[in-house]
Amino acid sequence: TKEDVKNYLFRNAFVLLTVTAVIVGTILGFGLRSYKMSYREVKYFSFPGELLMRMLQMLVLPLIISSLVTGMAALDRKASGKMGMRAVVYYMTTTIIAVVIGIIIVIIIHPGKGTKENMHREGKIMQVTAADAFLDLIRNMFPPNLVEACFKQFKTNYEKKSFKVPVQSNETLIGAVINNVSEAMETLSRITEEMIPVPGSVNGINALGLVVFSMCFGFVIGNMKEQGQALRDFFDSLNEAIMRLVAVIMWYAPLGILFLIAGKIVEMEDMGVIGGQLAMYTVTVIIGLLIHAVIVLPLLYFLVTRKNPWVFIGGLLQALITALGTSSSSATLPITFKCLEENNNVDKRVTRFVLPVGATINMDGTALYEALAAIFIAQVNNFELNFGQIITISITATAASIGAAGIPQAGLVTMVIVLTSVGLPTDDITLIIAVDWFLDRLRTTTNVLGDSLGAGIVEHLSRHELKTQDVEMGNSVIEE
Ligand code: ASP
Repeated sequence: TKEDVKNYLFRNAFVLLTVTAVIVGTILGFGLRSYKMSYREVKYFSFPGELLMRMLQMLVLPLIISSLVTGMAALDRKASGKMGMRAVVYYMTTTIIAVVIGIIIVIIIHPGKGTKENMHREGKIMQVTAADAFLDLIRNMFPPNLVEACFKQFKTNYEKKSFKVPVQSNETLIGAVINNVSEAMETLSRITEEMIPVPGSVNGINALGLVVFSMCFGFVIGNMKEQGQALRDFFDSLNEAIMRLVAVIMWYAPLGILFLIAGKIVEMEDMGVIGGQLAMYTVTVIIGLLIHAVIVLPLLYFLVTRKNPWVFIGGLLQALITALGTSSSSATLPITFKCLEENNNVDKRVTRFVLPVGATINMDGTALYEALAAIFIAQVNNFELNFGQIITISITATAASIGAAGIPQAGLVTMVIVLTSVGLPTDDITLIIAVDWFLDRLRTTTNVLGDSLGAGIVEHLSRHELKTQDVEMGNSVIEE
């Protein structure tokens, strides 16, 4: 029909705009590099991108709460239990597959040949033990103060250790107005502090705590009969309102993405610091992520649903590109919702339930990356890992990916858990910081892809329960 054609063009205009934004952003970024902008100029230049980040983050909190509460409330006990089990099995399976791919690839390619002495270091790292970090993960599930949980995650204040960074020239500290080395050091630490969410300075929300609370809350009001109706209606209409705001922001997204990408390219360090090992490491991570994202996940989707995964992924393009632009699966969440519900017609009971949880705990790209990076660090230290240690790395990498918040470069921080578990020097994280901003974007995209395909798979597996419920309830609560 005419309406369909209009929708089709509309949707593709979006995708086209977004893809164009990536291309133009990349060209613009490289074009402006020779202009050597100051730190302030880069900030001004990337302002439209910063705005997109802020708009998306603004919606995440009400979105997580309203979608999980309504999602849980809309399912009966049996359906939510089964769907929950399926989602957890999917998350675990894909995360473990990702870890195994990371391990195999890094062992085969062996990017860490040689010593680390001539490698470039950047930033500083804090000391934290695996046990501390694990306890923080559990603590975060039960925020003592819900309002505070909306502002920050709980992190035990670990001792920080500073690193001496070789400052070669002013150019390496893009834009910082530097007169002497000590000032340069200060500037660098400020920049990296901003980039790397060290404990205590994370301004992400405690999503995990809110997820746990909202699920319990949704479950309870779902079982409350008439008494719960007011709350169900409230969260339902809150969710609807938020999604309308998302629709508005989506129009702005291509512009924001353009500047996010261009700004990052302008600002990034000269590639001179990237030596042979780091380059090989980057290539290894890319190959690992590609195997997982382009072969394993689509294949799994096909095997379970018998549907064409590429059609499904096509509907997700805007979310994937947003992930690439923002480096944050939480910030991408609003767009992921839109793509799944509108382009791919995934049942809202499934997306509302599976997506917020997935964005918070299911991070295939991060898991793959953490295992791979830990073994890379072992390689540059000429540290022979035995089988038991490799198993330890796979378990801690899985835990670390669950614990990582969906914010830029969170995975770099939780990597400390993996390294300490097998006695590798945590300071060596500074060896891979130079390329992390880039790899972060790729693993975030993989994370979002994993969550989205997961929603498709869970929907397929739960189709009987969903149908039974439709019949019983006349389906008036969810489908508008
Ligand atoms: N940036 C990633 C995400 O938001 C997490 C990570 O650093 O691995 O999904």
